[in-house]
Amino acid sequence: MRVGVLGGGQLARMLALAGHPLGISCTVLDPAADACAGPVGELLVAPYDDPDGLDRLAAASDVVTFEFESVPAASAERLARRVAVQPPPLALEVAQDRLSEKTLFAELGIETARFRAIGSQADLDDAAGELPAVLKTRRLGYDGKGQLVLREAAETRDAFAALGGVPQILEELVPFDREVSIVAARSAKGDIASYPLVENHHRDGILRITHAPAPRLEPELQDLAERYARLVMERLDYVGVLAVELFQVGERLLANELAPRVHNSGHWSIEGAETSQFENHMRAVCGLPLGSTELWAPCTMVNLIGGVPALADLAAIEDAHVHLYGKAPRPGRKVGHVTVTGGRSWKGVAELAESAGAAAP
Ligand code: AMP
Repeated sequence: MRVGVLGGGQLARMLALAGHPLGISCTVLDPAADACAGPVGELLVAPYDDPDGLDRLAAASDVVTFEFESVPAASAERLARRVAVQPPPLALEVAQDRLSEKTLFAELGIETARFRAIGSQADLDDAAGELPAVLKTRRLGYDGKGQLVLREAAETRDAFAALGGVPQILEELVPFDREVSIVAARSAKGDIASYPLVENHHRDGILRITHAPAPRLEPELQDLAERYARLVMERLDYVGVLAVELFQVGERLLANELAPRVHNSGHWSIEGAETSQFENHMRAVCGLPLGSTELWAPCTMVNLIGGVPALADLAAIEDAHVHLYGKAPRPGRKVGHVTVTGGRSWKGVAELAESAGAAAP
């Protein structure tokens, strides 16, 4: 099988690596000539809306998938006219817009923070009684970008313009106990396999650490998260891996965001699960049965952000599995991750990651 991937970053790189033992080859399309999936697949360098680039990707692939959701709708449509596309473009459309995403959750009976659409400063003024809240751009927000926390009425003044005057959504600020996520896969036949719910720690809007499974995970919470993922995937006739980011409040789970792709909070599954999220995504989009999502033993993934510690230091830590993406370090940029398996201490890795990130230029 030949899989095309729109986007050539680390997610595409890990998809290509997972496909390799199965005899699945990867062609990736990316505007950057140094895209980090390039060394492990065939790289087509072209903008994401370049008709010729898209046609070459379609011609080189039996199925095309995505490593990010901000795919121009016209590009997804052009690909879909020429080649099988999985997950379905509808999933991208929904996930690109925070309002349609939250509306879908609500339609499916999936709990979310209270939200309302904001199309003008006047809408925001009307909502002054709903603070504290988070104002977010509906589109193109990621890693906490395009967001403002509003605690007092004075902060709402000019907030619409501060986010660029584009369509926005106002959400109740959720006093969550913790942030968790569920990663699940759905095969072309409709079988679903879910990974354990994991606990995520962010700083500056960027994922730093994931504990798998989420500590003190009750079966009821796992069931609830699996139900959310299943409802979304069945509604969208989804094929591939999907992640739902959630806030836990007591026994409740509030859905925050949908990622129609493999997800950073699932990287631990490369070493920590019977079948990684990357392999399961490749299996799903290639029409193969899914592999077991069972976890071997608790593990923790630490992202390397902004800088890479000395490899010798990381390699000296027992049961630390190092993934370097081959990207030039820049502040705030994900350049690798390390998964510590077998329930061993991850603190040493986190300290190395912190000091390398802090030393970034
Ligand atoms: P997002 O881009 O929606 O994933 O938001 C980035 C981060 O901002 C989340 O991981 C949360 O830590 C925080 N956040 C986003 N929305 C809310 C909310 N409605 N209530 C509380 N915290 C939020």
